[in-house]
Amino acid sequence: MAETLTATSEDIAVELTPSKASPKPGKLFIGGEFVDALSGKTFETRNPATGAVITDIAEAGTEDVELAVRAARKAFEDGSPWRKMSPRDRSRALWKLAELIRQNADELSELETLDTGKPIFESSKFDIPQAAECFEYYAGWPTKIAGETIANTAGGEALVYTLREPIGVCGQIIPWNFPLQMLSWKVAPALACGNTIVLKPAEQTPLTALRFAELTLEAGIPAGVFNVVTGFGPTTGAAMVSNPGIDKIAFTGSVEVGKEIMRTAAGTLKRVSLELGGKSPNVVFADADLETAAKYALGGIFFNQGEMCTAGSRIFVEEAGYDAFMSVLRSRAQKMVAGDPLHPKTRLGALISEEHLNRVLNYVAVGKEEGANVAIGGTRIGSKGYFMKPTVLEGVTNQMRVAQEEIFGPVASVIKFKDIEEGIREANNSQFGLAAAIWTRDVKKAHNVAKRIKAGTVWINTISTTDNAVPFGGYKASGFGRELGRAAIDLYTETKSVWVDLNQ
Ligand code: NAP
Ligand code: MG
Repeated sequence: MAETLTATSEDIAVELTPSKASPKPGKLFIGGEFVDALSGKTFETRNPATGAVITDIAEAGTEDVELAVRAARKAFEDGSPWRKMSPRDRSRALWKLAELIRQNADELSELETLDTGKPIFESSKFDIPQAAECFEYYAGWPTKIAGETIANTAGGEALVYTLREPIGVCGQIIPWNFPLQMLSWKVAPALACGNTIVLKPAEQTPLTALRFAELTLEAGIPAGVFNVVTGFGPTTGAAMVSNPGIDKIAFTGSVEVGKEIMRTAAGTLKRVSLELGGKSPNVVFADADLETAAKYALGGIFFNQGEMCTAGSRIFVEEAGYDAFMSVLRSRAQKMVAGDPLHPKTRLGALISEEHLNRVLNYVAVGKEEGANVAIGGTRIGSKGYFMKPTVLEGVTNQMRVAQEEIFGPVASVIKFKDIEEGIREANNSQFGLAAAIWTRDVKKAHNVAKRIKAGTVWINTISTTDNAVPFGGYKASGFGRELGRAAIDLYTETKSVWVDLNQ
């Protein structure tokens, strides 16, 4: 990943590439139809590279959410086309969705880049293909979901077996950093298990979810199985979480909203799974291949402008390797420039919004006040669009706010450590536990440290890779529940135990 982060121009191209896509105004997708919000209200989605409005999007209120939930409930009921669909046909429908994503990949990539500001290179090589692969992976599951027979330990003659059943109507609330990919991580396993869905994309990035909604009809997913309600978190999102017709909420986003969702979901005892970001340590030992470690450290923090829940935002470097590692990191970071997201050579795009850019810039100021040194970057680029220089803070200690709070932007905090014990202790000294990376040539050290790091994913001599077959999720404040792989099948099914008395 790090190799792809090369310079394109001194600054942002003044003339941005004209977009070929012209998104229609976005409507709600309820019961297989595109409809306006009952209130008629709309909001704007903007292009972060220019700040210009792309199109208007319907704003769902409580009543619209209720209609979507009813459509999803009806589609889930016994006797509905979805419930009657065999696992084999469900599998085919998921595979068809993957094919349709691939057939429409150019358009989806462009929509994703327009809405998020991420480079088209990333949308077209990463986000969109990975979404298709996620549907391909879960297309294999409907025919393999099975319960088990269990020996009865209490004596007596009984047959006990379990059934794996879909949970029902799943409310899925996703963020703006990887819109279609986050959709695929939630929608593909939920459909594989036979659930129905009400999805809320982030207000900043609704376009690919709406285009995907059209594809579900083409793929033969029955009306009402997949619904999209666009709108704002505190209104549309909150209406989903409190709606008694939704059986489960799956959420990816901030810690604060995650807590709020848990509190509200308690009212109706919904199942909840949360993926809440992190402050992932990237621990570089002096015996590592320091050049490779430095190259990958850049990808770990600057891919997707650092707007990544797994971003390796705390770079811990063992003192003995500090100078060698930092000279590579500094010289490569210096060469990275942000550019027009639609230009195929751009490797660093725009941040999601002006508000978010200001939040990230404020963290640079906070870091300076705390005594960190801005070694690279630290400032906005130009005044059009929300571009920022890749930023490296040195002289950071793990107690500073820039080391403890999620910045969610292109800001790396570099922290020195003395030895293995201090490295592990400080890496774990965080409210978060989503991911961690370790760099060393010592096999024993690598596995021992991996064991002692409190995180849902540990990378050894690599960073930021995920795979549809590999469980993903957090320890501690990074949330709970595991997405992807077989783990997501557990997340989207209930287990029912059936007892049959066989006593004569
Ligand atoms: P957020 O507010 O947590 O938003 C995530 C999703 O939840 C969005 O769809 C949002 O809707 C919705 N939402 C917001 N308030 C809600 C509520 N009360 N009830 C139900 N749903 C609600 O995150 P954000 O504002 O996009 O970003 C803020 C910070 O969150 C970031 O700076 C970063 O630290 C973290 N974040 C983490 C991840 C991750 O992958 N773990 C992703 C994105 C952000 P609207 O956006 O439409 O209002
Ligand atoms: Mg937008």
